[in-house]
Amino acid sequence: MTADNSSSGSRVDVVVIGGGAVGENVAGRTAAAGLDTVLVENSLIGGECSYWACMPSKALLHPGTALAAARSLPGAAEAVTGDLDAREVLARRNAFTSNWDDASQADWVRDAGIRLIRGTGTLTAPRDVQVRTGDGEVVHLHARFAVVLATGSYPTPPPIPGLDTVDYWTTREATSAQEVPQSLAVVGGGVAGTELAQAWARLGARVTLLARHDVLGSFPEPARALVKASLEADGVDLRLHCSPTGVRETGDGISLSLDDGDTVVAEKLLVATGRTPALAGLGLEKLIEDGALPADPKLADPRHGVLVTDPSGLAAGTDWLYAVGDAAGKVLLTHQGKYEARAAGSAIAARARGKLQGRPSDWSAEAATADERAVPQVVFTDPEVAQVGLDLPAARAAGFNASETALDIDVAGAALLRRDYSGWASMVVDEDRHVVLGMCFAGPGVSELLHAATIAVVGQVPLDRLWHAVPAYPTVSEVWLRLLEKYGL
Ligand SMILES: Cc1cc2nc3c(=O)[nH]c(=O)nc-3n(C[C@H](O)[C@H](O)[C@H](O)COP(=O)(O)OP(=O)(O)OC[C@H]3O[C@@H](n4cnc5c(N)ncnc54)[C@H](O)[C@@H]3O)c2cc1C
Repeated sequence: MTADNSSSGSRVDVVVIGGGAVGENVAGRTAAAGLDTVLVENSLIGGECSYWACMPSKALLHPGTALAAARSLPGAAEAVTGDLDAREVLARRNAFTSNWDDASQADWVRDAGIRLIRGTGTLTAPRDVQVRTGDGEVVHLHARFAVVLATGSYPTPPPIPGLDTVDYWTTREATSAQEVPQSLAVVGGGVAGTELAQAWARLGARVTLLARHDVLGSFPEPARALVKASLEADGVDLRLHCSPTGVRETGDGISLSLDDGDTVVAEKLLVATGRTPALAGLGLEKLIEDGALPADPKLADPRHGVLVTDPSGLAAGTDWLYAVGDAAGKVLLTHQGKYEARAAGSAIAARARGKLQGRPSDWSAEAATADERAVPQVVFTDPEVAQVGLDLPAARAAGFNASETALDIDVAGAALLRRDYSGWASMVVDEDRHVVLGMCFAGPGVSELLHAATIAVVGQVPLDRLWHAVPAYPTVSEVWLRLLEKYGL
């Protein structure tokens, strides 16, 4: 079923607006619980992650990482006789996005027992959703139990004079481009900007990366230093602590004036300066005006937000409206959004059956408790950065009596992976309870260390028990042993 618009005016159990990874997961959960669930999507089912974010960006990055790994291994290095084949990399990326065709995801939706309506959903009253389909039909739905907003986010352009006059790339164009530009200026040193700067540099573009502060500013300095050294080795021109003051098209490309007086000219410009939850135009303004929904006083424009204080994603002041994933604006990551989706889906089903009243308890299946202190995140540059939980400043700001143990990764498993392996790891400990609050790893291949750290943080495993989790030899995980030894065990 690629479309089912036959439910005009129907009463249904659950309406999910937005069929990205997160919306699919809520709908899958409520449908599996036997609730009549309608999923409303106005673009590709699977959303940003499948077509313009996680999957294509990693498909662009991994071949460069594999090549660098081979080049750094004597024996393998000698077999490397050329550079990346950009055409093949782009073709493989196209395959990972199914050439921007969502037929297989639509099949999954149908097989999961979810009814799909292709169109744009808007709230018209509490529990009432109006869907305008592509062919102009208007479908009215009334949700008995829940309406879920899983509408994602959109790029937030910075206020650079002239930006609206040039044809610039957002992350969508940067993940779907079919040719390697000769030169690329990237504005924004966050995760997306940094990953895409390295991907395109390794594919052959001359890349300049402009960051208002530092690259990957939310990660610890030693991790940032490793990534910056690698970007520079890839030929990326790093312009830190500088901002564009103007943009214009010239005969040579797009020209950026910088606040240090310099000018950067590039064939393409990528602006990757953050994202905003996609809640405008959903009808929230009217619900807030009518008093059916409280405004979120923390938002710059409270008419376009949902105040979520319940760990299941339930909007404050309602028993029917949920927000999850990027739309909820808490953690803009696919895996965490899908986790919120599982919690919301379970809570909707439990509330529908009268098995859950009020706020779900922490760490129950209906609560996304890990959102608060145990969010894992990977930066898929080469070297990678993988972090979970709190770093030292955040731990202290949260009131913990925290310490940090940090060291360079210098274990046999790492040395075997690459000649001149450089890596860094840190462990933040709650000194009162002797449990791990957060960990960060930087280095080639460290993303696969992260789940063990996530388990340690979520499980609040005491350090003296963690001591008995013996890392296999020779793996990079031996860094755990080194950290515990340095800590004093
Ligand atoms: C370049 C880049 C790389 C990233 N890499 C990673 C990564 O490696 N790992 C990771 O965890 N996260 C990554 N992210 C973040 C990740 O992409 C998002 O967190 C994730 O896509 C959010 O999923 P979502 O379902 O909430 O929103 P989306 O994927 O944006 O889905 C929302 C859907 O709702 C639809 N929609 C919106 N409004 C309406 C409406 N009114 N009616 C009907 N449909 C509507 C949209 O068409 C869209 O399909 C990356 C982001 C970017 C930009």
